[in-house]
Amino acid sequence: MADVDADEIRKLDQAHVWHPYAPPVAETHPVVRAEGVRLTLADGRELIDGMASWWAAIHGYNHPRLNAAVRDQLDDMAHVMFGGLTHEPAVRLARTLSELTGLDRVFLADSGSVAVEVAIKIAIQHSGRSRLFTVRGGYHGDTFATMAVCDPVNGMHHLFTGALPRHVFAPLPPAAYDPDYLDELTTLFHRHADELAAVIVEPIVQGAGGMRFYHPSVLTRLRELTREHGVLLIADEIATGFGRTGEMFGCDHAGIRPDIMCLGKAMTGGYMTMAATLCTAEVAERVGVLMHGPTFMGNPLAAATANASLGLLLDRPWREEVKRIEAGLRAGLEDAWRPGVRDVRVLGAIGVIETVDPVDVTKVQDFVMRRGVWLRPFGRLIYAMPPYAISDEDLAQVTGAMSAVTRLLTRP
Ligand SMILES: *Cc1c(COP(=O)(O)O)cnc(C)c1O
Repeated sequence: MADVDADEIRKLDQAHVWHPYAPPVAETHPVVRAEGVRLTLADGRELIDGMASWWAAIHGYNHPRLNAAVRDQLDDMAHVMFGGLTHEPAVRLARTLSELTGLDRVFLADSGSVAVEVAIKIAIQHSGRSRLFTVRGGYHGDTFATMAVCDPVNGMHHLFTGALPRHVFAPLPPAAYDPDYLDELTTLFHRHADELAAVIVEPIVQGAGGMRFYHPSVLTRLRELTREHGVLLIADEIATGFGRTGEMFGCDHAGIRPDIMCLGKAMTGGYMTMAATLCTAEVAERVGVLMHGPTFMGNPLAAATANASLGLLLDRPWREEVKRIEAGLRAGLEDAWRPGVRDVRVLGAIGVIETVDPVDVTKVQDFVMRRGVWLRPFGRLIYAMPPYAISDEDLAQVTGAMSAVTRLLTRP
């Protein structure tokens, strides 16, 4: 690593590279290596990754089993087109995903947003209608159809008004059982039932729309209403899938099965971009020819890595690991409460501090980085969802940094 010049990387980055949700020139930190739960920066600093690279790296970095899967697949083929051709990594992955979800038909997409686009296409082709029903506070991706079902206030609607279709939004789903909310949801649904192609929600945990947890009764009610009216239910499990909330899928908290499910993020263990849209055989049958087909659909390298990642997940005691992380987050974030903090909440391997005012992202990051931790706060949220492999000691370092950084908030 001696020839890595951090300043050179930073200079080229600022000259040419656009980063997520960032202006043309953004402050970034060059990374040269990632191993286990640690990122090594070009300047030699080591950081414990509290973000699992946006929910994805559940097994940690540089995992020997995932590395071997990539290498083995590479010797056979890196990629072939999926139109008219097929291969073992893709069909094995589809079988595993079907077994895990109880949904028979699998479309392998190249990113989460595309998987949601495909889910919406399936619903439109299935019903001949195009209006969607969702709840406020959601996040479903950055492409146009997905943006239109993101939260209309804290999402990106205001920048793209006129370019987005108008869907039906129920109020924020509540954290506790609330019969009045369920009545309101029911009334709104009944008012629009005849024009709906589908209901789309993130089950139990709303991720990038606000890191909120809501009561399973909302899902149960939506499943009843959609079934009653022949409307499809789309579960966007891209963030919640594969154990993150303490159950394999968010829907499992309510014991429901959706008609369509979107998976992504942790599917390849954070190695490569691949996502999936699944639906029941009946829905697929009625749709017939599905009008979608990305160039890199079913990419063998990504599919082989996903197979290894899912194998590893099923082999590891993920339920106990997530429980242990949940307990560690709860204990470690107890000290985070102070003036300026509105809420501290934990579910599964997700820990959230919600502040009263928006945080200064750079200030928070500099503070936690000095304590050897990588976080990426946004808005009023300082949060962590570490790899499942994180040790108690490393987790305590993450929660310690999160708790300590709230001291910055109350300073005038
Ligand atoms: C991240 C995310 C997406 C979008 O996935 P990308 O791979 O970033 O396109 C969609 N839905 C949910 C719930 C997500 O968390």
